[in-house]
Amino acid sequence: MPALETRQEHTGSYYAATSRYPEHYPTLEDSLDADICVVGAGFTGVSTALTLAERGYSVALVEANRVGWGASGRNGGQLIHGFSKDYKLLDIMGEDFAQDLYHLAWRGHEIVFDRVERYGIDCDLSEGFLEVATKDSQIPWLESQAETLARFGHPYEYRMLDHDQTGELIGTKAYRGGLLTMRNGHLHSLNLCQGEAKAAAGLGARIFEMSPVIRIEHGKRPRVITDTGSVTADHVVLAGNAYHRLEQKHLSGTVFPAGSYIIATEPLSERVLAKINPMKLAVCDANEIVDYYRTTLDGRMLYGGRCNYSGRDPRDITASILPRMLAVYPQLADANIEFEWGGKIGIVLNRIPMLGRIEGNVYYVQGYSGHGVNATHIMSEIAADAICGTSETFDVFAKIKHLRIPGSQWAGNQMLAMGMLYYRLKDWLS
Ligand SMILES: Cc1cc2nc3c(=O)[nH]c(=O)nc-3n(C[C@H](O)[C@H](O)[C@H](O)COP(=O)(O)OP(=O)(O)OC[C@H]3O[C@@H](n4cnc5c(N)ncnc54)[C@H](O)[C@@H]3O)c2cc1C
Repeated sequence: MPALETRQEHTGSYYAATSRYPEHYPTLEDSLDADICVVGAGFTGVSTALTLAERGYSVALVEANRVGWGASGRNGGQLIHGFSKDYKLLDIMGEDFAQDLYHLAWRGHEIVFDRVERYGIDCDLSEGFLEVATKDSQIPWLESQAETLARFGHPYEYRMLDHDQTGELIGTKAYRGGLLTMRNGHLHSLNLCQGEAKAAAGLGARIFEMSPVIRIEHGKRPRVITDTGSVTADHVVLAGNAYHRLEQKHLSGTVFPAGSYIIATEPLSERVLAKINPMKLAVCDANEIVDYYRTTLDGRMLYGGRCNYSGRDPRDITASILPRMLAVYPQLADANIEFEWGGKIGIVLNRIPMLGRIEGNVYYVQGYSGHGVNATHIMSEIAADAICGTSETFDVFAKIKHLRIPGSQWAGNQMLAMGMLYYRLKDWLS
């Protein structure tokens, strides 16, 4: 089944309008050979390609649309440690895994910070993140995270804030308290993705855009096929996350695409910015279905959140998100909304990123459940390590059972809508 019928330019996001990487890459029109072929050029695919290119492998990266076209070029830009639900991983792995999990949870930051510096990637990387409690019942969860940081001697600044301290820091009385972590932060996600792609290309990776992969022929050396070319490789990495429909026999019904939507205001005055977010923090609430926001380097409020989990995009994104923003910041009532857009996050039901192998040499890495800027960099390194022969951590994740709901995309979205209803109820009731 073709994964994508159309080749599309970037969506009308703030990120696309402020991209600093004009590079375009050719369409795949030959039959090529490579050590590794990566399918999909979001963070997962680009980061895998860059890691492998850094290690001297010949890499072909094949993207249906443009580099960063999917969630990676559209997200909230929040670089937050860990996975969607770290504690679920601990439940499965047991307490002995806690120290490894702590290191793993922050590994994506090391990769991103290192690359931004090493390759001079221009992506507005800023430190500081506040996870906020919308109700008292969420405070113990934030405290437990602070305790984990203390337990492992986290070397960067972090502290719990009460209601008043939170209000002073981010100019709103909306929250009961928060956990400030200065190693977390935010960035211009499309520029990071495009910057990493440029770095990979600089190391010899061959990148192809506007080249939807229509199928993979399995074998000793699998062949990745588009309608105008192909790549034969020792290993293939599938990195299409919520946007791909390849390898349905093995992967259908595992990752559910859910829409998340963002609005961006016009640049705000220095006076307003000094009141609502003087430290330029990223902020995300502790609900199951989150609201998240930050101010950009050019002073816009970029506010995103829950909206529509039925698989259908809302008719009017601003009408859906604006009331949520104004509930937190009524002082922004007069700010013009200059951008609105959405993208698909790939939800897996247990919220643990999913990776594995099909027939030994086709890898898949997917299902970050809305928490992928950091996690994509972690998981892609784990996949790259496995390709290079070190599969200890890969095997840990590959063994985790993921609930699979066989059937059509339609059934998947209905299931997701029911799942999200469950999480909304949980948010209301807790
Ligand atoms: C609106 C929104 C806000 C978010 N906010 C945050 C946040 O603030 N912090 C955070 O940590 N996470 C956030 N996320 C989640 C995060 O963006 C994702 O987890 C992450 O970007 C996934 O990266 P990926 O590379 O796996 O997938 P994607 O970035 O979606 O990339 C997949 C790519 O594969 C390509 N592809 C698909 N099929 C094919 C094919 N057949 N052939 C070739 N190419 C193909 C697609 O065109 C696409 O470019 C958000 C997501 C959304 C949608």
